[in-house]
Amino acid sequence: MPACTSCRGEVQERFRFCPWCGAAQRMKVVELFAGHPLLEKDPEKALRVSCYLGEDEESRHVRFSVWGGGGTPRAEAAVSLSEEEAERLARFLAETARLADQQATS
Ligand SMILES: [Zn+2]
Repeated sequence: MPACTSCRGEVQERFRFCPWCGAAQRMKVVELFAGHPLLEKDPEKALRVSCYLGEDEESRHVRFSVWGGGGTPRAEAAVSLSEEEAERLARFLAETARLADQQATS
């Protein structure tokens, strides 16, 4: 079994984070987000977010790519954000969600 890059504890290969110390085990963590089921015409269209977790500040960034279907999935567009901009995006989404919650309850 592979060892954690930080504490050397045993970590299963499928784990993204060490269960013992929480250290990231991959240099890249990817998540795919589906398009809105009612608003998006192409059901295969999705947003892929790749977080690059390099040791140095220069290599750490977040890449967003729009994937289209049409039989063969392919990236139609992409942009890489700095950590600071990605954090700003996360705050923007969190604040917008909070506003939507407030509207729903008022
Ligand atoms: Zn560990």
